[in-house]
Amino acid sequence: MHEVALVADLVEVASARSGGAPVGVVRVRYATTIPEDVLRQAFEMLAADGPLAGAALEAEPFEIRLDCPCGFSGALGHDDMVGTSIAVCPSCGDVSTPPRTAEIELLEVRAA
Ligand SMILES: [Zn+2]
Repeated sequence: MHEVALVADLVEVASARSGGAPVGVVRVRYATTIPEDVLRQAFEMLAADGPLAGAALEAEPFEIRLDCPCGFSGALGHDDMVGTSIAVCPSCGDVSTPPRTAEIELLEVRAA
């Protein structure tokens, strides 16, 4: 699951930003191509050691949209993505590359 790798990067960046001090809240934006429970489970698992242990994850979802030549225009879900960069149109099954957007964006690291 590529989500775990994304969250591992997130935890690393957030830890570095905290400078080793205990963190109370980590605020992120995440694409709805990532199921929220997967995001939270991965965060809890990966943040268990280090300054992020016990930190609350505040996650704000956003949509990655696809405009397909077949006429489909809408948000992509987890099942419509293959890896991080290939989208499968839910309407016609065409494979395309959606605009590259970071699926997880770190917004804020708040001290405990
Ligand atoms: Zn299509």
